[in-house]
Amino acid sequence: MLDIKKIRADFPILSREVNGKPLVYLDNGASAQKPQVVIDAITTAYSHEYANVHRGLHYLSNLATEKYEAVRGTIARFLGVADENQIVLNSGTTEGINMVAYGWAMPRMEAGDEIILSVMEHHANIVPWHFLRERQGVVLKWVDVDATGALDPQKVLDAIGPKTKLIAVTHLSNVLGTKVDVKAICEGARAKGVPVLVDGSQAAVHMPVNVDEIGCDFYAITGHKLYGPSGSGAIFVKSERLAEMRPFMGGGDMIREVSKDAVTYNDPPMKFEAGTPGIVQTIGLGVALEYMMDVGMHDIAAHEDALSSYAQQRLTGLNWLNVQGTTPDKAAIFSFTMDGAAHAHDISTILDKKGVAVRAGHHCAGPLMDHLGVTATCRASFAMYNTTDEVDALIDALELAHDLFG
Ligand code: PLP
Repeated sequence: MLDIKKIRADFPILSREVNGKPLVYLDNGASAQKPQVVIDAITTAYSHEYANVHRGLHYLSNLATEKYEAVRGTIARFLGVADENQIVLNSGTTEGINMVAYGWAMPRMEAGDEIILSVMEHHANIVPWHFLRERQGVVLKWVDVDATGALDPQKVLDAIGPKTKLIAVTHLSNVLGTKVDVKAICEGARAKGVPVLVDGSQAAVHMPVNVDEIGCDFYAITGHKLYGPSGSGAIFVKSERLAEMRPFMGGGDMIREVSKDAVTYNDPPMKFEAGTPGIVQTIGLGVALEYMMDVGMHDIAAHEDALSSYAQQRLTGLNWLNVQGTTPDKAAIFSFTMDGAAHAHDISTILDKKGVAVRAGHHCAGPLMDHLGVTATCRASFAMYNTTDEVDALIDALELAHDLFG
């Protein structure tokens, strides 16, 4: 069980007030808050241990390189990946998916080839594939979720045809909280020879992830949702796919030799890490992942599942609130509207007056908004440090908004 009091004390921002009220931070789906150990690691790195990595022979450069490179192993451990050379460090999921689109998919797809996507993907897992549609005539095939927001893995597998070259699917919806059985998708896709990219941006913070067990080809994560700094992240790329992939960006660090006439590349994963990286951000991410593993991913998941059930029960008890996505197999992420009464932005403004931070908008999920028939929702997204008292604070603030607008 989580020691929630201790965990909350580890996150300094949680003790502040907003608009004269204790902060109830429920915008974790957008970005999570940072524990003191991460803040301290960033300060220490800049105050005492900073230099560029990989290229100096002096003490500080070696120290920074050692700390930076150790994070590759930490990420591999966090994701259940046996070989850390399959982890490419980057600035986050957006960069990771773009790397796959430019470096792996573009050179091997032609007009008429297909990419299968679920309707609940984030724009980071849509727009790079639109580039291939616009530039190369690749066809995007969409798989719907059901009325509860669940995605049937069989429907994804049924969409595979002779021209399917990739399945790109989220592990957990940033809007509905739906968990996707990506293992079943990968098993079925492997039998048909179709690689699978999993967007793990939301899943990795809410539940234990074992990428080797999932059996995907690509698994993208983003540091700032994992209690780490923004500008940090990584993508797991299976070694067979690494061998097939072209570098997406060229520059320092990713090369072995450069002359006027030729270039030879470093071995993967360095081949895909051009330029000076987010050194301190990545070091901070390593500390954030160690923090999560110390707390325990199973305990985090159990705490959040309990929060999710409680929040689901309380939110669906408000008969004037339209809660989107009611599948029981979901993380503590809730999207809702007050149909005909108030716009999502107005609701979030009232909530903010009560110190409750939620997000309002399309959540970078245009196709899902179309599927749900809405232009915007309010989203309350929970993290390991949230409590049932904070669910109650959300409900109180929603009742106030309903009294004002309803
Ligand atoms: N995928 C999902 C499911 C997300 O929720 C997000 C961020 O909101 C992203 C991708 C993009 O992550 P980033 O902006 O950190 O690259």
